[in-house]
Amino acid sequence: MIKRLDSEVSSRIAAGEVIERPSSVAKELIENSIDASARNITLYIEQGGKSSFVIEDDGCGISFDELPLALERYATSKISTLDDLERISTLGYRGEALSSVAAVSRMEIRSRERTSGAGGIIRCEGGTVTLHTETPSHPGTRIQVDDLFFNLPARRKFLKTASAELRRILQVVNDYALVNPELTFRVFSDGKRILELLPPGSTDKALERRWGDETPVYSSATSFNSNRVKIWWNPIPDSRRTVVTIFVNGRRIQDPTIRSAVCGGESAAYGEWLVILQMPPEDLDVNIHPAKEEVRFRRSGDIYKLILQTTRNIFSRKYSFTSEGGPQTGENSPNVFSEKSPSGWFDTEDPMFSQTPWKPVSESGQVAERVSSPETTVFIPAGRPDSVDINGFYNYIGQTAKGFLIFDLPNGIAIIDPHAAHERILYEEIAESFKGGIISQSLTMPVEIPISLLPEINIFLNELRELAFIFEEDRLIGVPMLRGRSKLSPLDMLRSALRGIEVEKDPEKRDREVWWRMARLACRDAVKLGCRFEREEAECLMDKLRSCSSPFTCPHGRPTVFLIENRKLEDWFER
Ligand code: ADP
Ligand code: MG
Repeated sequence: MIKRLDSEVSSRIAAGEVIERPSSVAKELIENSIDASARNITLYIEQGGKSSFVIEDDGCGISFDELPLALERYATSKISTLDDLERISTLGYRGEALSSVAAVSRMEIRSRERTSGAGGIIRCEGGTVTLHTETPSHPGTRIQVDDLFFNLPARRKFLKTASAELRRILQVVNDYALVNPELTFRVFSDGKRILELLPPGSTDKALERRWGDETPVYSSATSFNSNRVKIWWNPIPDSRRTVVTIFVNGRRIQDPTIRSAVCGGESAAYGEWLVILQMPPEDLDVNIHPAKEEVRFRRSGDIYKLILQTTRNIFSRKYSFTSEGGPQTGENSPNVFSEKSPSGWFDTEDPMFSQTPWKPVSESGQVAERVSSPETTVFIPAGRPDSVDINGFYNYIGQTAKGFLIFDLPNGIAIIDPHAAHERILYEEIAESFKGGIISQSLTMPVEIPISLLPEINIFLNELRELAFIFEEDRLIGVPMLRGRSKLSPLDMLRSALRGIEVEKDPEKRDREVWWRMARLACRDAVKLGCRFEREEAECLMDKLRSCSSPFTCPHGRPTVFLIENRKLEDWFER
């Protein structure tokens, strides 16, 4: 039997399309505050927004009489005719957010228009108004959302832990702060202030605050007809994901076309991207997704080309040595092998993570499997058939014009790629540091923590302490002690740790995830192929490489050594 759902049921289902979790409440209500021309937006969150979520703004406010209307579905002050729908310049327009949140929570709105003497309050439980009265209040709007999904238990079950939900909310706040650099955002969680983003003045400054000023950021702006785009890229070396944050006309959206234009230009598009697109509202249809997270472009081909062109400009900046504006690639990094250091740091008998079966060259037909994550095990030892042996007395012959190092060994001539070899050495130095207990090393100069990292640090304080980070107020005073000469900056280490903790919840595997990231980061500092070597430096590199547990490949799986055996030479010369 087919029957109509009663309106109470259907409105709850519809509400679930707009409001999926506390962060969707945050997104909708922050957009409302921005539309209301607020300058200050403050959130008070309890239990990741699951028990309570409050947003306060100093925007234009809602008049007492209109409060009930604001809660009604399809009631909006932002558009009124069909024509308006073609030219939406506000973030909201569907009149759905407040009614949806109201349908699935206990909600209270207090508001006062700037021009009006008194304010009003309206309370509502699961969509039913329980109170509407005048009350003294500050100009602006305060919306409290308690017990989200109390009447949709199935939805409530899908919510994550409080800290996971809090992180999503913070992501929304941080993202909106990027494109609204003239606003102040504050977040309190369980009574503590965890985030304060004062107006940085520009998106560039906001990004510097978010990404830190240590990693080089590349950006490029292009315009075509009336479409303007600016793209920023933070190529985080240890990142395994490509995160693309997209804003179109101030609205945060997901868009496969833009994403593929960003990622399609280059296989190594790892790291974080921000794409800000401004276009005439009539070229954009925002009315296709309940939560307004997808849009349709009237001329999507043009947009694709525009984004692709801009991304290419960014890549050419990163990979050219002479261009201005983009940071240099560090070709001139100083040679780090000028000091002799003790060898034999690694227990070659007991290579770490050697549970993975060995893959001799002869079986797999290649030197080693290319690996890119600890899950696939970075320490698959390179094939080491008997014939590949770089032990024994050696004599350094010299360096080729290309930069390869040549050694004469008892059983042949070894050609070494110094970059790959150095990557392997740095990698194992860091791996070694994480073997057994991690100990702290105090910093001679405490490091100020960028404000954007503070909330995450608060959430993961215990995990970070276990990883030997030490904090004193908002400063970092101790970091995990790393062996060898790796030159990771304390903040890079902290960021790697946070990203590792984020993806790996299991404490057993977490350490490994974190060191893997730090080790990848250290690879960035490896000497480049063209770098000139003195004899002692080349010898030091060879000594260290020989004491690695997996000397034959770099952590990415590329070979470090090519051995031409004497036997082969003799064959060749028909001896
Ligand atoms: P929409 O944003 O699509 O118009 P909402 O349900 O989000 O729909 O909001 C309904 C109406 O309530 C808005 O059109 C606006 O007039 C009013 N409103 C909501 N939030 C605020 C706020 N923070 N300040 C002022 N007015 C608001
Ligand atoms: Mg809205």
